Amino acid sequence: MFPFPHIRFVDILDIFLVAFLIYELYRMLKGTNIIRIFWALVVMYIAWRVFDALNMRFCSQILGGVMSIGLIALVIVFQPEIRKFLLFIGTKTQQTGDTLAKRLQFWRSDVNRHNSMNYEPYIQACMHMSQSKTGALIIFKRSNEVEELVRTGEVINAVASSALLETLFFKNSPLHDGAVIVSGNQVLAARCILPVTSRTDIDPNLGLRHRSAIGVTEQLDVISVIVSEETGAISYAIGGEIHHGVTPVQLRHALEKLIDGTDEDAPAATPAA
Ligand code: ATP
Ligand code: MG
Repeated sequence: MFPFPHIRFVDILDIFLVAFLIYELYRMLKGTNIIRIFWALVVMYIAWRVFDALNMRFCSQILGGVMSIGLIALVIVFQPEIRKFLLFIGTKTQQTGDTLAKRLQFWRSDVNRHNSMNYEPYIQACMHMSQSKTGALIIFKRSNEVEELVRTGEVINAVASSALLETLFFKNSPLHDGAVIVSGNQVLAARCILPVTSRTDIDPNLGLRHRSAIGVTEQLDVISVIVSEETGAISYAIGGEIHHGVTPVQLRHALEKLIDGTDEDAPAATPAA
């Protein structure tokens, strides 16, 4: 017999859901400055409840006042995180839908999944730019729309080729600064400005190119590919995590896995931060 008859199944589900939400919130805030504000709010809330329980009316009233306007303050302070969280939920839902649609399509017809996108121009360009230590930052569209990013740069709308990408990132080119946004085999825009991550636990040797490559993947469902001007190292970022120093083969596998969903036999790369 269940020892607590007054506890319903939905109560247990309720506790699990709240625990999951708190855990996701903590995971999202971990490594940012916001986590300090989060802890300050937790301490203030506990202090308020203690003052209230001890009947210390003056302190409890002051803290109670602060807590009551705190909700509005929270929305203002956590605005980027709330946006990120909603985007995360929306993206996950869309990804699940997309994966199911892809699976259905796969089972229904004999589509050759490896034919969906030609990564050769990107891999070739990254290899060449890595050898010549030309800095590059390429953003691959996934499920999110990228108009917001495209608007920050110059529209290109051309078929991707290794030569085009290398020309765009060539040091003396007027378009070499910032990021190139691509969708499938199409280069959408160049010289785009990305949001920089606010994380504080990232390798201090990584500068703004890498930090903005991480930042954009925190806010949008995109993949960033970076070639370092300093070291020639190739990296990619997704979901706020950077995989540093990957080989062209690893990059190809990652792109195939993350864009087309063809992930068999992909060699693993280690997240750097
Ligand atoms: P590298 O290893 O190539 O030196 P890094 O991570 O050390 O990269 P920086 O040396 O700071 O980064 O690179 C500066 C370049 O990064 C700029 O010239 C610009 O092209 C690009 N960059 C910097 N900030 C942004 C941004 N917010 N959005 C897009 N590109 C950016
Ligand atoms: Mg640098």
